[in-house]
Amino acid sequence: DELVSQIAAGEVVERPASVVRELVDNALDAGARQVTLRLSAGGVRAIVVEDDGGGIPAAELPLALKRHATSKIGSLAELERVATMGFRGEALAAIASVAEVSVTSRTADAAHALRLDARSGELSPAARAVGTTVEVRELFFATPARRKFLKTDATELAHCLEAVRRHALARPDCGFAVWHEGRLVEQWRPASAEQRLRDVLGEDFITGSRAVAWQAGPLMIEGRVGLPELARARADTQYAYVNGRYVRDRLVGHGVRSAYEDVLHGSRQPSWVLFIGIAPERVDVNVHPTKIEVRFRDGREVHQALRHAVENVLAPPRT
Ligand code: ADP
Ligand code: MG
Repeated sequence: DELVSQIAAGEVVERPASVVRELVDNALDAGARQVTLRLSAGGVRAIVVEDDGGGIPAAELPLALKRHATSKIGSLAELERVATMGFRGEALAAIASVAEVSVTSRTADAAHALRLDARSGELSPAARAVGTTVEVRELFFATPARRKFLKTDATELAHCLEAVRRHALARPDCGFAVWHEGRLVEQWRPASAEQRLRDVLGEDFITGSRAVAWQAGPLMIEGRVGLPELARARADTQYAYVNGRYVRDRLVGHGVRSAYEDVLHGSRQPSWVLFIGIAPERVDVNVHPTKIEVRFRDGREVHQALRHAVENVLAPPRT
């Protein structure tokens, strides 16, 4: 089972940023309004994620680190409608197989917090407000070959920040703070959706873009797209979300790009942030363990809606 976990870990945990993505996912699933990360050595030495979510009941704490133990799927029918971000029950187990992990958690009705040490399985009382702290230390300590593939601390930190940014854009109602080596490196307070975009991507993204609000049958598309004449040509500011989950999808990218090509007849890479809302049964999110890929039931429908939504903003029909 250890081996199976390590193989699963290879798919889920590539670098510190993968751990950050999964832990913040869990915090948001738990209803957190504030997520604080404390990193050391770009996350390689330590990733500590604190949240003020609902916490893990004492009886369930040992289960949280077991493979396929998830509190998020009640039935197969529910699996099909799964709307939360994490649902496979593999992330924590996978991380615990390649790092030193502890989970400290407290629910509202508990007299105190409990800390679980993953390696020893030891449970001990701890002091903590309601919520959860997951500590991940010495990533890949037992697999030097994997550790060797990591880049400099600065690069790994940049990837970690990008992972938080992806969550932060989708959850403006939640506050985020990232500390590195005891220094506050990023902080986003709870804000409106537009203010969060401004906080994360900068004022020039707002002034250089226009709002998208498009509804077509079972599809809703919102966000902002960079204006051709103002847009910063930055391909790294392209964020797509499906039902609140960050995705990297060729079809989505292509749909947006073709709108720009239709209007601009050029190949500049514009900035955009788009949130696609779609009936859950029209999309399969269970394609890849990192959940970054999706499969639409009707890809053409999504592609066309994106294309029209973006074209409508870049070159509004004259009335
Ligand atoms: P999944 O998120 O797919 O269910 P994970 O391995 O990421 O699987 O987490 C396993 C379980 O641990 C979750 O289903 C949840 O019950 C619990 N858990 C993990 N992190 C948190 C957290 N920050 N707050 C509350 N519960 C958590
Ligand atoms: Mg999870």
